[in-house]
This record gives sequence, structure tokens and C-alpha cells, in this order.
Amino acid sequence: MRKPRLMTPGPAPVPEEVLLELARPVIHHRSAEAKVVMTEVTAGLKDVFRTKNDVMILTASGTGAMEAAVVNTVPPGGKAIVLNAGYFSNRWVSVCKAYGINAVSLDTEWGHPVDPEQVANALKLHPDAACVMGTLSETSTGTGHPVEAIGKIVAGTDAVFAVDGISGIGAMECQTDAWGVDILCVGSQKALMLPPGLAFISVSEKAWAKIDAFESRSFYFNLKMARKKAKEFDTPFTPAHTLILALRASLRMILAEGIENVWERHRRMSEGCQEGIKALGLELFSARPAEGLTAFRVPAGLKDSDIRNGLVKKFGITTVGGQDKLKGHIIRIGHMGYTDELDVISGLAALEMVLSDLGFEVEPGQAVTAAQRVFIGPTSAVAR
Ligand SMILES: *Cc1c(COP(=O)(O)O)cnc(C)c1O
Repeated sequence: MRKPRLMTPGPAPVPEEVLLELARPVIHHRSAEAKVVMTEVTAGLKDVFRTKNDVMILTASGTGAMEAAVVNTVPPGGKAIVLNAGYFSNRWVSVCKAYGINAVSLDTEWGHPVDPEQVANALKLHPDAACVMGTLSETSTGTGHPVEAIGKIVAGTDAVFAVDGISGIGAMECQTDAWGVDILCVGSQKALMLPPGLAFISVSEKAWAKIDAFESRSFYFNLKMARKKAKEFDTPFTPAHTLILALRASLRMILAEGIENVWERHRRMSEGCQEGIKALGLELFSARPAEGLTAFRVPAGLKDSDIRNGLVKKFGITTVGGQDKLKGHIIRIGHMGYTDELDVISGLAALEMVLSDLGFEVEPGQAVTAAQRVFIGPTSAVAR
């Protein structure tokens, strides 16, 4: 028997309270009971996203929210600026292409944060861009981007700022309104502690003005239609209502802990994991690590698949490798959502043992000790 341990940056572990909701009888999505649930989850999502803007629930994976942002804010033949720094941010370019939108790709070396100065310059060069599309946490490289600084720049222009917060929300601080994020895209299966299947999108007044200016080319992802229904705590089509019940349970857990405390827990887990990796003599991949996952380079002479297969076979731990050009070069450990310091410690302990099996020189406890040093201290959960 191997106890399954999901240490991937999405899907991520789901707590029992949330899983149990999925076993309840299906209720009708237009019933009074469903409206009560929709009212509570809409308020909860706004609280977690730190926004007063409209928030809509889509039955789709996270990419559905990205597609909704693109097709509704940029008119046919229009222009967008994509802050392209990884596999997921490049998806903005692909979605733009699918709708005949001219995507100006502002490329940043993978593993590095976007430079806000470059965004300012790009906006000067392309004042006709309707939307700037960026990422809070680039999951392919494990990098957090300076959304606050970029938001301030975009706010001074006619463009709207759309942020892919799919793996960031619930793991990293995001002050949607205060930071000028006009459109926030979120998915259920990352730090929000749910199975895959729901996407969330928040839309500011500035973004609605763009959206209202032309006819949506998408039927399913028509945000004008979604807004109309959301005002009545409803959705245009049958939502994955079972997942919405589960969402209520996960939001209750997040809000009971307090979103600031949730961010702080992720900061600690991230720091502990980074220190553990460095203590093994391994190299972090990102110059500015995101808080929901840690990416590190595969040490010379070892194969990423041997390490990851060892973790699965010996300890039931699932991690992920690199995507696209990073395939074989990095390993990514998720620590988002329903995870704590002990998950990080056990992940590091397993990594020590697997690396040791593969002939990599490891002193048992080396990484674990480094993580514990981070977790012992004034900010640890116990001390609070
Ligand atoms: C997971 C992820 C996506 C893709 O989400 P899907 O739910 O698979 O559509 C997009 N962007 C980021 C940053 C992600 O982490």
C-alpha cells in the first residue's frame, strides 16, 4: 500500500469537508436553495479575491476564464499585450490567435519576473492595445510576477489588465482592486482546494466598458450574459452545481483561517521548501519564486523521471517535471491549498531518500533541518 500524496501545482489536495459535499444528492440549480449557495459563494469569492467587482462562476477549467477574458475584452482584429514568461502565459498568445487578435508578446526569460518598466514602454509603443494579459503565478517556472507594480502602470492607460491567477489565488497575495487588476481569472483545482471543473472571473467597471462596446463572439463565454445572470445569483447554463456546493465548503475553510493567514502559511511553506532544496545543494529555478510551488533544476547526472518515479514508487508522492523547453530540466513540487509545513517536510524527507537511492550525496535530514529552521520561529503556526 502507498498512501497517495498529491504534491503537484494543480490539481492539489482536497480536504475531507470539501470531498464530502461531492457525495450529496444533486439539487436543482434554479432552486431557492441553490440561490442561497450562490449568494454565499459569490460573496466568499469576492472576499478571497479582495474585490468589489462582479465575480462570475463558469463551468470550465481555468483556461475557460482566460478565453472569456480574451474574447470579451478585445474586439475582432484588436490588439493585446501579453506578458509572456512561461508555458501558461504563452497560452494568452494562443487564445488571442484563435480569435484573430494581434497579440504583442513581451517576452521575459523563463524563471524571471516581468519587468514593469518594459510593460510601461510597451504600452507607449502600443497605445491601441485593449488589454494587457499577465500572470500572478507562472506555474511552469514557479515564478511570481509583480502584479501590483504592473497594475499601477496599466491603470494609467486605456488598456485593461487581465491576470491569470489560476495557481496564484489562495496561495499568493492578490489585492485585485487595490492593485488595479481589471479581470482576474481563477481555476478551482489549485489553491482553492477543489477538484477541477470550475473557473471564476472578476470584471471591473473599466473592463465592462470595453466588453459592452462590441458583440461577444463567444456564446458559452459571453460575459454580458453571465453578468446578467450573476446579478440574480444564477448562471446562464447549468453549472457544475455539485462543485459549487464544494466551493462553499472550501471558501468557509479559507475565510475561517483568514485570507491573510492563508497567504502567510504559503509564504512559510514556500520559504521552508526553498531552504530545504538549497540545503541539498540543488538550484532553485526561479529568480522570484511563487508561493504555491517550488521549482528546482534536476542535478547534473540524474534524470528527472528517475527522481519523480522514485517519489511515486517509494512514497506515493506525485510531483511534476518541466513543460515545453523545460522538460527534463526541472522538477516542480506543489505546496498549495490544503497543505501545511509537515507536507513540505515529508516531501523534502522523501526527496532526500530518493536522491540518496540514486547515488546523489545526501546527509539524511539535511533538507528537513533547513525547512524546520524556517518553521521554528516567531511566525510559525504554533507560536501564533
Ligand atoms: C493550471 C494553470 C492554467 C490552466 O488551467 P486549466 O484549469 O488546466 O485550464 C493556466 N494558467 C496557470 C498559471 C495555471 O497554473
